[in-house]
Amino acid sequence: MDPADWPQQLTDAVKSELVSRGPYEVKPDFTFPKNEDGRSFHHHVHRQLVNGEKIKRTWLMYSPKRDSLYCFCCKLFSQKAFKLSRHGFNYWKNCSETLKMHENSPEHTKNMGPWKELESRIRTGKTIDKVEMALIKTERRRWREVLTRLVAIIQSLAKRNIALRGTTDRLNAPNNGDFLKEVELMAQFDPVLKEHVAKVEGGANHTSYLGKIIQNEIIDCISERIVESIVSEIIQSKYFSIILDCTPDLSHKEQLLRV
Ligand SMILES: [Zn+2]
Repeated sequence: MDPADWPQQLTDAVKSELVSRGPYEVKPDFTFPKNEDGRSFHHHVHRQLVNGEKIKRTWLMYSPKRDSLYCFCCKLFSQKAFKLSRHGFNYWKNCSETLKMHENSPEHTKNMGPWKELESRIRTGKTIDKVEMALIKTERRRWREVLTRLVAIIQSLAKRNIALRGTTDRLNAPNNGDFLKEVELMAQFDPVLKEHVAKVEGGANHTSYLGKIIQNEIIDCISERIVESIVSEIIQSKYFSIILDCTPDLSHKEQLLRV
């Protein structure tokens, strides 16, 4: 999870979840953006030990959303507000020096303790909130199952250029569109969606992931992945060509001009 997206309130359950996931890491081929000075962060900012050996800074997280660095354990456990623990550090000129100072600071050393302790408790299943963790895991699995089905429905409709929405967003209403109709159909046979739809209808689930906003978000996520995959193919290819097809809008303007 990008550190910029961490919840404001870090409850014990959230901390346990974040520690079990570990510090956020960007992909090895991630290109760091340059700031106005032409500087950027770069991969593999290692710590050099006195004997010359270089070790990875496991606590260091980079946020692509904020183009900033955070310290995993200080963001989790520090009561003090400083850049690496709150809003992120992005003064690349002094980066190496700042990281060195931070990792030797008493505050950072103090926060490494509870991180490693919690991590080992989670690994051995000895967290105080073991039951709570098990519940979180089950919930996470359930939402993943639900979302997998919703994404599949959207992909299936999008591949056939079928509109998703109808004139209402209510389940089981006659004109609620093809997306909800597919959800209803699948819910007749699939236990995961059956349970989900029943909870939504019964008012037990305030979050349904069936509304128009989430439909658009899922479409955006899918489109991002498609663009990523096209771009990575282009990067790997020596030659490539692009064919464009477009369609005019109501005022007969080609939509491509708006891109
Ligand atoms: Zn720290």
